[in-house]
Amino acid sequence: AKAEGRNNYRFFLPSMHERVKERKTIEEDLRNALENDQLELYYQPKIDCRTERVVGAEALVRWHHPDRGLIMPGEFISVAEECGLINRLGAWVLEKACKQTQIWRDSSLPGLRIAVNLSPAQFQDAELVSSVTRIVKDTAMPEGTLELEITESILMNNPEKAVSTLKELKALGVMIAIDDFGTGYSSLNYLKRFPVSSIKIDQSFVNDIHVDMDDKAIVDAVIGLGHSLNLEVVAEGVEEVEQLDYLREKGCDFIQGYLYSKPLPADTFVTWVTERQA
Ligand code: C2E
Ligand code: CA
Ligand code: CA
Ligand code: CA
Repeated sequence: AKAEGRNNYRFFLPSMHERVKERKTIEEDLRNALENDQLELYYQPKIDCRTERVVGAEALVRWHHPDRGLIMPGEFISVAEECGLINRLGAWVLEKACKQTQIWRDSSLPGLRIAVNLSPAQFQDAELVSSVTRIVKDTAMPEGTLELEITESILMNNPEKAVSTLKELKALGVMIAIDDFGTGYSSLNYLKRFPVSSIKIDQSFVNDIHVDMDDKAIVDAVIGLGHSLNLEVVAEGVEEVEQLDYLREKGCDFIQGYLYSKPLPADTFVTWVTERQA
């Protein structure tokens, strides 16, 4: 779960009445956004720690609000979840990300992986597997190219159902990453039972990694655990070269963070990758 503070819409006024009204407004605006093409995906590069090459990207949604300008997902994903719009929004994101990857594959940027975030409600949606099946087929996604990022809470709700859904996704060649690893339920047992392919160390552990002994210990343990279970380990929120050095020394596989790049609009992402890997 996200920190409470990130769920607050920037325009909330303190009174309860105003809060409810504001929420209603966002909900209406968001319906509108889905119909009027106001959402955009940004792409943050994922870098191989050893080679420093770009191996893929994480798709992160942005909202161009006609009056309020650019709105970040922390301010509307939770509203979308509460008012039942998340499945439509999520389906749009999945389709857009796969189509974009297909365009890159057919032109300038072959071989990139794409990661897409899934909300718990999407994961529980009975239509998930069939819509992923359709999109993967329509966009001819090569096996191992699409990665879905889920959080620990998804797995703990209904473990049996989760295992069967994950197996179906795996059969489609879809990879599964555990996002924000270490911030949710602390049961490590599920890692063994669920067909996941990677874990993403939450940025809260990465922030002070170069100075804080506790964070060092946690990160060391997570990398060790991941590797002993044959999982790829990704660190997110890497901003300092000291953090990168530490993670690389410890054998972390992939890195995302402002040190390399913020999430970028599709065309800027292409330019960035092309210049970097020329
Ligand atoms: P997340 O999946 O954990 O994504 C990582 C967040 O950290 C992104 O924020 C990213 O821009 C930010 N970030 C990346 N590198 C750094 C860094 O070096 N330093 C710092 N301080 N931050 C960094 P963003 O794009 O605002 O997204 C916030 C959250 O919103 C995401 O967290 C994810 O949970 C959710 N989200 C974004 N797009 C989608 C989507 O399409 N569907 C769903 N269900 N959730 C989404
Ligand atoms: Ca993510
Ligand atoms: Ca994350
Ligand atoms: Ca997060």
